[in-house]
Amino acid sequence: MAGVALLGLDETASIRGLAGLLGSRSATVGLLAGHWQNDSGATCPDGLTEAEINLAVARAVAYTLRQNGIDVQVLPEYGAQLNGFRAQAFVAIHADSCVDLSGFKIARMTHSDDPEAEDRLVEILYRTYGDATGLAPHRDTITDDMREYHALRRISPSTPGAIIEIGFMGGDRYLLTNEQDLVAVGIANGIMTFLDEPGSAAAGE
Ligand SMILES: [Zn+2]
Repeated sequence: MAGVALLGLDETASIRGLAGLLGSRSATVGLLAGHWQNDSGATCPDGLTEAEINLAVARAVAYTLRQNGIDVQVLPEYGAQLNGFRAQAFVAIHADSCVDLSGFKIARMTHSDDPEAEDRLVEILYRTYGDATGLAPHRDTITDDMREYHALRRISPSTPGAIIEIGFMGGDRYLLTNEQDLVAVGIANGIMTFLDEPGSAAAGE
């Protein structure tokens, strides 16, 4: 606490001000709400859009993380702040098309700078998301679009990042619209587990 006592109120305020100016490029956790502020994403015949699901889920994840004292930034699909974005974890949230399939999947960038950390983030999310939602992994439908996802190429190479497709808007519609709390908990638990565990060097499980 001695360090804190050295700062007067004015100094603390000015440091906060400075952090505010720089803050758009750093956060403990970055969440990208897929398609937000750009397009609707996948759309069901009745007008349900992927973008509205992604944003609601991203905000619910952010809420849960903030309740646990974690600094979070929710980002739109093509925000300028994505360039060089620094965080301890970054997760982009999308949903699959309105077809009658069920399952979720997670991927990291093909050419990752830190494949061990990103594999760890991906595998933890597979576990926590499956546990929270009861959905099964649907790895067969992971596409190159996920592995070469633009946002994962734009964030800082030092930021461990992943993209999750949280389910199909057809077969998983009830979960994605009426049980978004479970969806959010599955993602938030994964991120918190990832942040809690020591770096990839300690991964020996
Ligand atoms: Zn999408």
